[in-house]
Amino acid sequence: SGGRPMLEVDGINARYGDSQVLWDVSLSVGDGEVVGLLGRNGAGKTTTLSAIAGVQPPSTGTVTFDGKDITGQSVSAISRQGIKLVPEDRRPFDGLTVRENLELSTDTTNGEDWDVPRALGEFTQLDERANQRAGDLSGGEQQMLVIAMALVGNPRLVLLDEPMEGLAPQIVDQIVDIVRRVREANIPVLLVEQNVDVCLELIDRGYLLHKGEIRMSGSAAELADATEEIDRYLGIR
Ligand code: ATP
Repeated sequence: SGGRPMLEVDGINARYGDSQVLWDVSLSVGDGEVVGLLGRNGAGKTTTLSAIAGVQPPSTGTVTFDGKDITGQSVSAISRQGIKLVPEDRRPFDGLTVRENLELSTDTTNGEDWDVPRALGEFTQLDERANQRAGDLSGGEQQMLVIAMALVGNPRLVLLDEPMEGLAPQIVDQIVDIVRRVREANIPVLLVEQNVDVCLELIDRGYLLHKGEIRMSGSAAELADATEEIDRYLGIR
């Protein structure tokens, strides 16, 4: 909807001890956009999400959200402003039911569109298991629940770290469908993904990250055509 992007990452650098892992990374996510961050293992994708969410603030560079500089703010302060990070290893609380997991994730600070009834209405597979322990769900259902938990937080931006990782192909299709629904709900998403084909199916635009540097960016169509760069930076497709 015009104007400045919702999220603007400008020239961030990050290091672990002596080794620098992000080099002047800049990217943006606009209103309602699903943007991909593609790269091999160790390229720096998770570190980029950590820098945005405040888990590990960048050493230099800025993160601007909705026109406000949030660089270096705490995870909780950034979360309260509506940036919800879904880490790769996020799991629901096994001993709580599906419904309880959704209840404790509900946050109306930034809106009231999403609540437990809506989440269960959107994800009928979860609705059928609403009163079961989350620990008894399949891996795919748990991933579904984790995304639903982010949604009841009424996010203004979701950072999704490899949500399809380790899931069987038919489950991957379900998660793809869920990301589509997040997009249809007009919630912007920054999606970290190693699977190029899955990623290109979902995103409006994307960035190729290689050894901590953005090597290319473009629309999904432009990236799909960039077979040389994809082979070079992602190896396989
Ligand atoms: P993956 O898909 O494996 O998570 P990634 O693209 O998300 O890869 P990062 O996890 O951001 O990559 O890692 C970038 C680099 O930083 C890698 O070389 C990794 O070994 C290193 N690294 C990540 N976390 C730490 C840490 N806590 N301490 C030291 N080095 C780290």
